[in-house]
Amino acid sequence: MDKSKCGLEWCPKPIPPGRHGNAGGCCPEHSALIKALKEQARYQEKALLTKQVKDEEKKFKQLAEIFGYNKAIKIGDLSPNLLNWSISTGSFQKEGKTGIAVGCIGYITNDDFTIKIYKIC
Ligand SMILES: [Zn+2]
Repeated sequence: MDKSKCGLEWCPKPIPPGRHGNAGGCCPEHSALIKALKEQARYQEKALLTKQVKDEEKKFKQLAEIFGYNKAIKIGDLSPNLLNWSISTGSFQKEGKTGIAVGCIGYITNDDFTIKIYKIC
């Protein structure tokens, strides 16, 4: 990122040398605007994540409706890209194992390439 120009894309002004080191804008008003835009971006990112969690939770629920809760499901039986294993809202403990929480659904992966899906709230 060019640190010498105002952080607002449409503002061509340079950041005056007098402004403090991590000032993102050419003036306090633009710095405030940049901050607000960043907050908005963060909020949108959070909203997107919430949606991803909801979608993922739904997929696990549908699987549990087909295969059953607390039942070993062979990962090989599922379509390869059905689940997004990187989505997680935390962890939980069940039967001495640590599982991954996705909203109100939790799953535990087992060494025999199966997963068990649990209702955790
Ligand atoms: Zn500016």
